[in-house]
Amino acid sequence: MPAHLDPTYRANALASLGEHELDVLVIGGGVVGAGAALDAASRGLTTLLVEARDFAAGTSSRSSKLIHGGLRYLEQFDFALVREALRERGLLLNKLAPHLVHPVSFLFPLHHHWERPYIGAGVALYDTLGGARALPMHRHLTRTRALELAPALRSDSMVGAIRYFDAQVDDARHTMMLARTAARHGATVLTRTKVTGLLRDPGMSVRPGGGSLRNHGGPAHAANGHSTRVVGATVTDRETGREYEVRARRVISATGVWTDEMNAMTGVDFPFHVRMSKGVHILVPRARLDLGTGLIMKTEKSVLFVIPWQEHWIIGTTDTDWSLDKDHPVATATDVQYILDHVNALLREPLSPQDIVGTYAGLRPLLSGASSDTAKLSREHAVAEPVPGLFVIAGGKYTTYRVMAADVVDAAVAGFGRGVAPSVTENLPILGAAGYHELLADIESVAQRAGLTVDAATHLVSRYGSLATELFSMIDREPELGMALPGTEYRGVEALYAVTHEGALHLDDILTRRTRISIEVPDRGLAAATAAAEIVAGPLGWDEATKAAELARYSDRVNAELKANTAADDATANAARQVAPC
Ligand SMILES: Cc1cc2nc3c(=O)[nH]c(=O)nc-3n(C[C@H](O)[C@H](O)[C@H](O)COP(=O)(O)OP(=O)(O)OC[C@H]3O[C@@H](n4cnc5c(N)ncnc54)[C@H](O)[C@@H]3O)c2cc1C
Repeated sequence: MPAHLDPTYRANALASLGEHELDVLVIGGGVVGAGAALDAASRGLTTLLVEARDFAAGTSSRSSKLIHGGLRYLEQFDFALVREALRERGLLLNKLAPHLVHPVSFLFPLHHHWERPYIGAGVALYDTLGGARALPMHRHLTRTRALELAPALRSDSMVGAIRYFDAQVDDARHTMMLARTAARHGATVLTRTKVTGLLRDPGMSVRPGGGSLRNHGGPAHAANGHSTRVVGATVTDRETGREYEVRARRVISATGVWTDEMNAMTGVDFPFHVRMSKGVHILVPRARLDLGTGLIMKTEKSVLFVIPWQEHWIIGTTDTDWSLDKDHPVATATDVQYILDHVNALLREPLSPQDIVGTYAGLRPLLSGASSDTAKLSREHAVAEPVPGLFVIAGGKYTTYRVMAADVVDAAVAGFGRGVAPSVTENLPILGAAGYHELLADIESVAQRAGLTVDAATHLVSRYGSLATELFSMIDREPELGMALPGTEYRGVEALYAVTHEGALHLDDILTRRTRISIEVPDRGLAAATAAAEIVAGPLGWDEATKAAELARYSDRVNAELKANTAADDATANAARQVAPC
């Protein structure tokens, strides 16, 4: 099956939309929906994934980008949750996505000697739960050794430290690659296609109690309400405004913080709701902090991370309620100051707002129970069938997307007459994984053959895995594609590949999610945007007017975000961000 998500793929997919009844329609192309599409397609089910904006445009491009068990959940004695997440971490690192999920180390500075046995025991348990082979074990460090590793830290900021290992991922790339892998297994995957209504079968009325809620690992509960069966959805192509009726035996909603909007579409109260909590990160240049490792520190509410990220450090996050625009959450000056205050407490040379080259904000989809039965769900995920035929999944975390996907597909196909195979995703490497280690081991000759520097070749291989060979061929045919986009580490070929293989339709998709230029350079990618627009105009069929409109749209967005970042409060920031559509 083709996994080249280019404009022709999209046109053909739209042309055949609604022709046949599907087994499964998945709504939402975040990590959970993309994972569910892969899970369903790889079980042999006819599957369509529709995403209203772009793959990972919601929370799944805005996380801390850690594949982790969550050290802090151990403090809450949530061992099962941590063990499950660490098992997924091992699978992703070793088998499913070794090209996209990489080890990362963190230094945990200790402020009092009595913390060492307490935190040391927690980290030792974390290592054990994670399985001995996944990553190196933690090490206890004296203050002198910790300062050698992290000279940027004040010597009076700690009495010693513990160093432990976790993993990180480029979340947006990983989610998109899940969608591509689903396409390879026969799913149809579409961006810029929004579900605007649900198709109901008026002939099939269902008694109260027909719905059900399955708490992850917990009991089942009945939901109330008369309802007619969901038999598909109205899908609107946001590029043309055209509507399609898609019929499916099962519909899965994996819409994260938009879950309550799906709820409103059904007219039946869902057994759980999703509360939004905003988390902000800032990026500063790597050279600005002399650290040989990431950092983790406790805050009043949670923890703050300093995470190595190519040529930058990602620092965050915050945790505040949000009830404004779901599409475009933004960081305020207050959020940024909170982060700076906490990290500066440890640094010899404090960071200032002028050091920041990028910020981003995301919304955590936290479950909130409609009843006491569901009140404890916030860190877990839940699957419900509030209306027959419609299966809703929400909550959880990035790391456990595969388990969530398998759970919702299991629930959805439970009533199928014929036997459906169990989930196979535990043994299904995503595209680019096979052959990645071999390519990396031979990187010098790979670089030489591709006519690139070793750094440039490594950059491509560690972002595309073995699919980097496709980009090397493109550079071979058109050598100028090997040149960097202005002010960035990214090559022109990455912009082209984004539209010929990765489903990107707009500059924002290329600069924000296929690459991360929009948060990694001080001009937020404005210079790179012009160069990228030249490269992708042909394949996307843009004339001069469309190209100019795309550039204007991108720069409007950058300016709106920068203005929002100066606001002191969410309401003012949200109003400033609203002036730009993308
Ligand atoms: C600040 C922050 C830090 C985090 N850090 C971590 C971390 O380090 N590690 C970790 O494991 N987890 C982390 N998380 C949690 C993790 O990011 C989320 O749990 C996960 O990304 C949610 O994925 P999702 O697919 O459920 O939602 P989303 O990614 O939001 O996807 C939902 C999608 O549904 C689409 N959609 C909505 N309505 C419709 C419709 N009508 N039609 C079609 N499509 C629709 C949206 O456009 C969206 O793309 C973090 C979260 C935040 C906010």
